[in-house]
Amino acid sequence: MQVLTTIDSCRDARSRLGRLALVPTMGALHAGHLSLIELAHQHAETVAVSIFVNPTQFGPKEDFKKYPRPIESDLRLCEQAGVDMVFQPAVEQMYPAEPADLMIDLPSLSTVLEGKHRPGHFRGVCQVVAKLFNIIQPQAACFGEKDYQQLRILSAMTEAMNFPIRIIPGPTLRDPDGLAMSSRNRYLSPEERTKALSISRGLFAARDQFASGIDQTNRLLTTIQHALLEQHLAIDYVAAVDAKTLKPVERVASPTLLAVAARVGSTRLIDNVILSPQ
Ligand code: AMP
Repeated sequence: MQVLTTIDSCRDARSRLGRLALVPTMGALHAGHLSLIELAHQHAETVAVSIFVNPTQFGPKEDFKKYPRPIESDLRLCEQAGVDMVFQPAVEQMYPAEPADLMIDLPSLSTVLEGKHRPGHFRGVCQVVAKLFNIIQPQAACFGEKDYQQLRILSAMTEAMNFPIRIIPGPTLRDPDGLAMSSRNRYLSPEERTKALSISRGLFAARDQFASGIDQTNRLLTTIQHALLEQHLAIDYVAAVDAKTLKPVERVASPTLLAVAARVGSTRLIDNVILSPQ
């Protein structure tokens, strides 16, 4: 496995590989990331992982500085997962002192849900992923449904920019008790983790309710809110939106995203389920 830290060396290494699938990450790898690496192997002969905690997608009061960076164990996990190439640049590589004043935004998708609570977040995500796409030139890139809005925006960006890259979604991996895996789960104390379980519990209860025939989203959202409030979580949003446009819907008539963002102590968690009518 090659580990590259500069753009030039990464381009050079990449030019000697054939068809390639990329898994962009911020490191602190867990089984969710590894499932995307496995998915990437199914779509190309070679697999690259980028590990970069991207400062431009963090707000001024967010956890950029304290975000976990266990780089040695990350590299070990990549090696074990059969990754061919890891791109792990320093911030100065990606953003030299005088960064080009370029902004990629898809406002109709990026100003709702997470975008409302994290202004500028998706601009940072689009900026870094567009740069990674240009540097690594993969034929495919894998993103998790755990960050559904990100996946949707990056699919739309890829189409709008005519990047010749297939965007492949991977399902959300969960701990056996339902908690969606996340690098931020390691911030949770045991008591906070128990409270955090109300997020998946609420989402699953709403999914069951939908399966039993209830398709009014206000009823599904009330079920989720009850689960969260019972555990005293601070809710940023609980929403039902069209899975493609991310616009609110009153009934589940087409694929619909039920999305939650809530804080447990100082940790902010997101999760979702997708409902598909028959
Ligand atoms: P991150 O390192 O948090 O930026 O995530 C890198 C990629 O892994 C993104 O495409 C995420 O959506 C994906 N990912 C994160 N958590 C999970 C999970 N529990 N299951 C599947 N994919 C995930």
